[in-house]
Amino acid sequence: MGNEKKNDLTVKYDYVWDRLDEAGRRAVMEMGEDYKHFLDASKTERLCTEEIVRRAEAHGFRDLTSLSTVKPGDKVYSVNRGKGAMLAVIGSEPIVSGMHIVGSHIDSPRLDLKQNPVYEDSGMTLLKTHYYGGIRKYQWLARPLALHGVVFCGDGRKVEVHVGDQEGDPVFFISDLPPHLSAEQDKTALGTAVAGENLSPMAGTLPEGTADDSERAERFKQGVLKMLNEKYGIVEEDFVSAELELVPAGKAYDVGFDRGAVASYGHDDRVCAYAAMEALFACGQVRRTAVALFVDKEEIGSMGSTGMQSHYFVNTVGELIERQSGVCGALDTARAMAASSMLSSDVCVAFDPNYPSVSEQRNNAMLGKGVTLVKYTGSRGKAGANDAHAEFVGEIRRMLNQAGVVWQTSEIGKVDAGGGGTIAYILSNYNMDVLDIGVPVLAMHAPCEVVSKADVYMTSRAYSAFFGS
Ligand code: MN
Ligand code: MN
Repeated sequence: MGNEKKNDLTVKYDYVWDRLDEAGRRAVMEMGEDYKHFLDASKTERLCTEEIVRRAEAHGFRDLTSLSTVKPGDKVYSVNRGKGAMLAVIGSEPIVSGMHIVGSHIDSPRLDLKQNPVYEDSGMTLLKTHYYGGIRKYQWLARPLALHGVVFCGDGRKVEVHVGDQEGDPVFFISDLPPHLSAEQDKTALGTAVAGENLSPMAGTLPEGTADDSERAERFKQGVLKMLNEKYGIVEEDFVSAELELVPAGKAYDVGFDRGAVASYGHDDRVCAYAAMEALFACGQVRRTAVALFVDKEEIGSMGSTGMQSHYFVNTVGELIERQSGVCGALDTARAMAASSMLSSDVCVAFDPNYPSVSEQRNNAMLGKGVTLVKYTGSRGKAGANDAHAEFVGEIRRMLNQAGVVWQTSEIGKVDAGGGGTIAYILSNYNMDVLDIGVPVLAMHAPCEVVSKADVYMTSRAYSAFFGS
């Protein structure tokens, strides 16, 4: 059970695969297939929210706003502005006695179009972008990109744009220097080699009109605007009230001859969102109300009405309490939050054999060794960390061992090598016990990241054990 050996004083962290029987190994691969479908449907936070709601409804979850009461066993969902959601299974104990919360984020690093994006230069129509979240800019060059998002027109009409992920779709493309001309750039530091303002993809190469129009200004831009108007009924000013996100085009892939891993855009943090969602779908009647929370804006600091810092979650908890007991005072939500415990469900860095120097191997997650407990995040002296209490880590560790979950521990690289954070500290502000625990990822924040299918499966098992405890 777990990682603890009865007759051995030392701890040994096992590979998940070694600890599974045939049925378990089959379950890992089956979950891997379904997870890839989830990723392909979830290229943005809005699409991910839609996919979560679609799956929740298929599992009998109902929109909280349509219900006047809730009782034990009820399955409900709530959506926040189309960019985040929470799913809950009502427990047999009152909500004010505390909940089991698994919180993940469904936004991922990407390139957002600016408000006046369209311009032309040298026979091309191009788009201005501003990157969202922590990216390594050079990784976004010379690769096919898809565009997803919404446009709100002058008359209030909503237009959805999805280009680049369907068979036969065109894609967008940010150029890079050929090695023949990169001698100067090759001498500059990687972090400064590509300017943010140069992340401007090509969006058209055909001029409007004929050779007789060759003296007319902006013929390339006009050509693209005309096509957009014909296809979507939008004009240039409509970009001002749009959210259009450039993401890597294409689907999730299996990796390796044995198909043990998945390469895809957006594992951070849709992999933990997926694991939490599946765990909640699988739980029966729970003692404590089980909540899977999916938030936006983690990659840029969790600010705004759809980020974890928003009052959305605590307000929705109030709505649940009111529907359970007929009334909900401020003290009721405060008590419910403080009595709750939370797994901050986010990815961590997997040890990379190509770059061993940034990690301390004894305290770094290894691909395939299971769900990963991260007691503290932060950087340079744990600054900014939610450092989980030993009591709570002990509770979770016992729970995982009892449930036979294969787990390991990690921190983000060597001391002083860098660092990072999650939504953990925001929930812990409610005086709630919170522990970071999730899936190790290789090449985190790259346009294509990698996770082990065995780790996805064990992470979902861990969340299941938590909901069931
Ligand atoms: Mn994350
Ligand atoms: Mn991240």
